Amino acid sequence: MLENLKKEVTKIAKKADIEGLCKHKSGNFSIRDKETGYIVVTPSGVAREDLTYNDICVVDMNANVIEINNSVKPTSELLMHIYAYKTRPDVYAVVHTHSRFATSFAVLNKEIPPIIYEAVYYGGIIPVAPYGRPGTKALAENIIEPLKKSDACLMQSHGVITVGSDIKDAYLKANYVEEVAEVYYRTLSMNGGKEPPILPMTELKKWQYPSYIKLK
Ligand SMILES: [Zn+2]
Repeated sequence: MLENLKKEVTKIAKKADIEGLCKHKSGNFSIRDKETGYIVVTPSGVAREDLTYNDICVVDMNANVIEINNSVKPTSELLMHIYAYKTRPDVYAVVHTHSRFATSFAVLNKEIPPIIYEAVYYGGIIPVAPYGRPGTKALAENIIEPLKKSDACLMQSHGVITVGSDIKDAYLKANYVEEVAEVYYRTLSMNGGKEPPILPMTELKKWQYPSYIKLK
């Protein structure tokens, strides 16, 4: 069931590994089906090079397994995905990575301010969810408040979660988070640890396609 969604989630999970956003079996990815409400989610402990769409698990919003083809289990961080969907009914995909620059700020419990325009795509500030042990209810509960404010949040001493209208959208945000985190790190370093200038949300929201380009 939900073969197309399984293929989409597999493609993005492999891409994230190749592009360096999450390595060594870390990170997990899911899509919520608009019709059934079921979630297709990556399995626990399968190397991305071995991952096929047959390994993708189907679960419901109460963490009941609906379908598993191979001898795999859904990611141990499943509850975090479910809570993200419960918190944000507008969201249909969740991407969780351990990308390095963003995770470094997560370790320091330091939110990432909007310093370049990419920040507008996920809502400006990247807040930090308090620490919760991976796989626990505490971790899942801790992402609720940050995700009400932003489509991206850091998870203290752990990694990053982004949400989107589809898996490409959530994945793009995960890329932007890492890019902004790297620029933030570099500007802090070049500036002797002093905070770089911030782009206010009012400015970020003003962006529009230039009217002087005359479209056909
Ligand atoms: Zn994780």
